[in-house]
Amino acid sequence: MTVSILVVDDDVALNNTIIAFLERSGHKAFMAISAEKAMEELSISLPDIVLTDISMAGMSGLELTRYIKQHYPSTEVMVMTGLGQDYSYENAITSGAIDFIFKPFGFKELNLRIKRVINEIQLKRENARMVKHLEALAITDYLTGLYNSRHFHQQLENEMERHARYSHPLSLLLFDIDYFKKYNDTWGHQEGDRVLTALGGATRDCLRSMDTAYRYGGEEFTVILPETTLRKACVVGDRIRKTFADYEFSPDGKNHISVTISVGVTQLSSDDTLETFVKRADMAMFQSKKAGRNKLTSLTAP
Ligand code: GH3
Ligand code: MG
Ligand code: MG
Repeated sequence: MTVSILVVDDDVALNNTIIAFLERSGHKAFMAISAEKAMEELSISLPDIVLTDISMAGMSGLELTRYIKQHYPSTEVMVMTGLGQDYSYENAITSGAIDFIFKPFGFKELNLRIKRVINEIQLKRENARMVKHLEALAITDYLTGLYNSRHFHQQLENEMERHARYSHPLSLLLFDIDYFKKYNDTWGHQEGDRVLTALGGATRDCLRSMDTAYRYGGEEFTVILPETTLRKACVVGDRIRKTFADYEFSPDGKNHISVTISVGVTQLSSDDTLETFVKRADMAMFQSKKAGRNKLTSLTAP
């Protein structure tokens, strides 16, 4: 891994020597001759590593270290200090430095220490990627790739809070596959899963950028539509219904079968709780079922 390293030292000759060495080792290196200059440079180039002297005119290397860890936590700081100076390893580490090196040092030693820091950077980045991946997995429905119901409740709460603050309209779609039990019984659960996956895709295709879709239960889906009135939500809901109804499934490779959904739509009223809001969308969906399925029904708050 090639890294970018900012060397901070008011001894320009030493600074140049270190930079020449780092560049020969394949790194991108650049210099600052004071902590203040380093702060400017940081905001422009965001280096992976800062190698800083401790005692400099003006701001010290330890203050710089604290500043970096506060503002650029992913940048690692190595501090260097002359032997016999009054700074301890402990000072450096508690300021947030990852390593500490005494001047004068040989390039072999510097090289080894930088390698170790690079390893640590790689580990940290790998961990961060893993955490991000796990966080995404925790809110994703494995079958459809939509969000799952756990995330639905969290997001709906967030959107309802936003509604309370700004009173922008907020609407909700809830839909359920028609006669899905029969489909499963006839063609098997695996073929049923294909239908669910396809409904996930159709839903995604019909959403606008701020809408979010969730697999709410087994064969029940919801869409949260921020900044959306009931009338506009009906347009989105009907687009999903029609798009999906146009799909053809061929579970046995011979028959061509279309599957439909029944949709319920409602808009949040200021008296709603999360429960009454979802319940009303569910009632609207149920009315679509009663009216013969493959329909959309909207309900306004009483
Ligand atoms: P309605 O039109 O009234 O909605 O009838 P329905 O048959 O769709 O409704 P019902 O609630 O009787 O059946 C729902 C079916 O959904 C039963 C269950 O097998 C199926 N289902 C739920 N989750 C999954 C799943 O993850 N995969 C598959 N393949 N089927 C599922
Ligand atoms: Mg159902
Ligand atoms: Mg159903």
